[in-house]
Amino acid sequence: MDYISTRGQVGAIGFVDAVLMGLADDGGLLVPQHLPQLSSDTLAQWQKLSYPELALEVFSLFIGGEIPREDLKKLVDDSYGTFRHSEVTPVRRVSDSLHILELFHGPTFAFKDVALQFLGNLYSYISRKTNSIIHILGATSGDTGASAIEGVRGKEGIRICILHPSGKVSKVQELQMTTVDDANVLNLAVEGNFDDCQRIIKELFADVKFKQEYHLRAINSINIARILAQTVYYFYAAFRLAKQGHAGPVNFSVPTGNFGDIFAGYLAKRMGLPIGKLILATNENNILERFVTEGVYEPGEFHMTYSPSMDIQVASNFERYLYYLYGEDAATISAMMASYKTEGKIVIPAEKLTEVQKDFVAHGVQNDECLATIGNCHDEHGYLLDPHTACGVAAAEKFTAQGEATVSLSTAHPAKFNEAIELIGIEQTFPPQIEALFDKPQRQTLVGGSNDEVKAELLKFF
Ligand SMILES: *Cc1c(COP(=O)(O)O)cnc(C)c1O
Repeated sequence: MDYISTRGQVGAIGFVDAVLMGLADDGGLLVPQHLPQLSSDTLAQWQKLSYPELALEVFSLFIGGEIPREDLKKLVDDSYGTFRHSEVTPVRRVSDSLHILELFHGPTFAFKDVALQFLGNLYSYISRKTNSIIHILGATSGDTGASAIEGVRGKEGIRICILHPSGKVSKVQELQMTTVDDANVLNLAVEGNFDDCQRIIKELFADVKFKQEYHLRAINSINIARILAQTVYYFYAAFRLAKQGHAGPVNFSVPTGNFGDIFAGYLAKRMGLPIGKLILATNENNILERFVTEGVYEPGEFHMTYSPSMDIQVASNFERYLYYLYGEDAATISAMMASYKTEGKIVIPAEKLTEVQKDFVAHGVQNDECLATIGNCHDEHGYLLDPHTACGVAAAEKFTAQGEATVSLSTAHPAKFNEAIELIGIEQTFPPQIEALFDKPQRQTLVGGSNDEVKAELLKFF
């Protein structure tokens, strides 16, 4: 399978090159040149597969012969062998109408492990095969950093540096990142917010000489490997419901900020998985809700919410969706993104909005609604939601019609976001792996918000 850029100036390149490139060199995003189409026979066969078996089939379609099947199998088995649940991503039936796809059974208790355990092993594999060192550089609002570090800690040929906004990630997220004592991990706590971290990373990556000299690689959700890894659980969940006797399409409710997770669902749908509605759940940072309801994509004012991993105003994967909405026409996307840069917004015409609304509905959940959803679900079903998952459940409740089935994606374990859970007077017991973090020493370096300070720390580290 080859990959091309949404802006038409890169490609076709192979899977490994696409993973290494991250953001396409022309500023666009890499997408598969052709989306595989699955027959109903294939889907029926896949129903019988375990999670790792299914992941192997999906990855094989997108990687082609570039990685030998037995190597790929080992990568997949190693990646999902670290999950605490035998089903990797089990579907929990909380009530007749509430199905939760639990994506938090990986090492850092958030869904990002599903993609980053695989990407970590893949980078390590590529480093061995090409005999070259890989330096991973990324910014995080909390979950990506912890998950990426866990994906590569102690691995030969790889060093990782993660920037997080000092004091602005949850306590558990901070501990997960900073209690790792492997020599190949550097945590920089930046004085500033997540956008400052992101800007520094962007500018360092834009310095092509620096990027090449130090073999800098990205782990953010624009990496195509992450999206592909996330398509797997849509298949897996739909198959579980079919096995329980549910006939017909399944809706998915997806807490999303960067449009990454929900875009993976959209790909699964385009590949032929019978998905009904894709329910886009956001918080008070509702740029994506406004796009789905009004056809306008325009960053708004930044809000701090109980679901900080979705406190995002610029959805870095959105361009991939636009590319498909506009019939895979790179010239149109190039022009749209150029005009977005000068105008600060994208407005789509009514007939395109109709198309968007065939696949998506959206709900931006207010802070009080988020807490109320956690409280109600706990009271009624004894099931504790994390605040991101609660946004998804609130949206699912709003849009699931009589007789339909909706799977709500649970993107994090509630223990990661106890700050919000405490507010409604619920006392939770932490899993032992999280409890243990509180006794470990932390390692992090505090830096100011300038590129030069970060660069100086990187040079010491490399
Ligand atoms: C990253 C994250 C999200 C949002 O994922 P996107 O890729 O931006 O759609 C939602 N919930 C949690 C807990 C996360 O860590």
